Amino acid sequence: MKQKEILLNSLLKENTLSLSDLGNEEIGNEHLFTNIETPMKANAFDLSDDEKIKKIESHFRSIMETLGLDLNDDSLKGTPQRVAKMYIKEIFSGLNPANKPKVALFENKYQYNQMLVEKNITFYSNCEHHFVPIFGKAHVAYISSGKVIGLSKLNRVVQYFAKRPQVQERLTIQIAKELQNILDTDDVAVLIDAKHLCVSSRGVQDHNSATVSSFYGGRFSQEATRLEFLKYVDLQTNH
Ligand SMILES: [Zn+2]
Repeated sequence: MKQKEILLNSLLKENTLSLSDLGNEEIGNEHLFTNIETPMKANAFDLSDDEKIKKIESHFRSIMETLGLDLNDDSLKGTPQRVAKMYIKEIFSGLNPANKPKVALFENKYQYNQMLVEKNITFYSNCEHHFVPIFGKAHVAYISSGKVIGLSKLNRVVQYFAKRPQVQERLTIQIAKELQNILDTDDVAVLIDAKHLCVSSRGVQDHNSATVSSFYGGRFSQEATRLEFLKYVDLQTNH
């Protein structure tokens, strides 16, 4: 985390500064956020997916027209509909709890009570401040409390929370809390190493930086367990 970001976040914690004291650009550039839960309206699912697609299509057409684009062009005319469908059915499908992966638990028959690490889970998300991609690798681990889940489900939980407008810290915590809940254990670790196109392609235009965020629950807060996890992940970080 950048020095300024640490400073701003600690000021926010002490309640000496609130997000409403900051300008739009500052909130976006420092990637500040307010809540672990994705902020949603109470009536978020009153409209059906098809109704949302129609509405977004019309709004996106207005954006393109305002930009001065000629929507009669054969290449552009289908774009509003394509974008709307992509938002609802793909890249923001994780906003809808109906799309949450159903996870079946299995008995831990083999009494495997060591750490299980699923690493290098590629994900694509989008920054909630700029609506441009965040992409990278997630590494998740847990120590079984007697139940196990299929490995592909770990991947699906990551993908579900990635398919929302996000900030990286919230994505990390949402994945971790969900796994703690499903697996009925605090012993969960999540490490995310990602690039933010809003940092590399605009704003400060830093092409080389990557952001690492982590969550260490239960036994992962012990140094030996955490180091074992990091050794498996083989990431040379100071986390
Ligand atoms: Zn951003």
